[in-house]
Amino acid sequence: MIDYHTHTSLCGHATGRMEEYVEEALRCGLDEIGFSDHLPVKDGKENNLSMAFGDLPEYVRKVAHLRKTFPEIRIKLGIEADYIPGSESYMRDILSRYQFDYVIGSVHYIGTWAFDHPKERNVWEESDVDAVYVEYFELLRKSARTGLFDIMGHSDLVKKFGYRSKADLSNVLSDTAQVFKECDVSVEINTSGLRKPVSEMYPAKDILTVFRKYNIPIVFGSDAHIPEEVGRDFDKAVFLAKQCGYKSYVTYEKRRRSVCDL
Ligand code: ZN
Ligand code: FE
Ligand code: FE
Ligand code: ZN
Repeated sequence: MIDYHTHTSLCGHATGRMEEYVEEALRCGLDEIGFSDHLPVKDGKENNLSMAFGDLPEYVRKVAHLRKTFPEIRIKLGIEADYIPGSESYMRDILSRYQFDYVIGSVHYIGTWAFDHPKERNVWEESDVDAVYVEYFELLRKSARTGLFDIMGHSDLVKKFGYRSKADLSNVLSDTAQVFKECDVSVEINTSGLRKPVSEMYPAKDILTVFRKYNIPIVFGSDAHIPEEVGRDFDKAVFLAKQCGYKSYVTYEKRRRSVCDL
């Protein structure tokens, strides 16, 4: 099993040493752990949301060093990149500077609204929830179409605080799955939703079922922001994957994908 979504203290809102994340992965019996800390955002200042631009070389060196320290487990160099329309060329440039194993593309912003940030939760109260969902999935499709990402992160993050669209999303979801297929991206089963107000896996079963229908590959991630969260609830994640009909998951090395039996 793999955990491809973990953070480090470099982003300013995760704690623990990277060694401890790897040690926890070993305790969980994982075959692979991938680090995927938040890529510095364009014009980003020290904001405690992502790494600082100057931290990237250290991050990359650290992963290389950990590979030597822990030869008993495969350690991947990933990154979680915010999709912000207009910053594509910045991202293309920065992502090309390092040999990442995979890039997770995540939508955390609708316009300038960080809709999943606890500090901006109040904005939900003044928003048209149905419209927010439509916009969110539109951004997901746009992010896949950039070709910058291998894995679509927590692909129904919009539900985090429990605000639900009352509209029928079936067309939106099948359109989204269709685009993911065309763009050859995978999705992650991200267990962190279980630890959030919505208390549900990202993505939910009905959405993952649609992805399965379109043969979208999956990876697994905990979105750990503390070492103890590595591999958290993976039994439930595997159960969900199998329930939705998945028989395999994928791994990445230098952005090339391989298939593993579930
Ligand atoms: Zn984070
Ligand atoms: Fe995220
Ligand atoms: Fe994350
Ligand atoms: Zn994330």
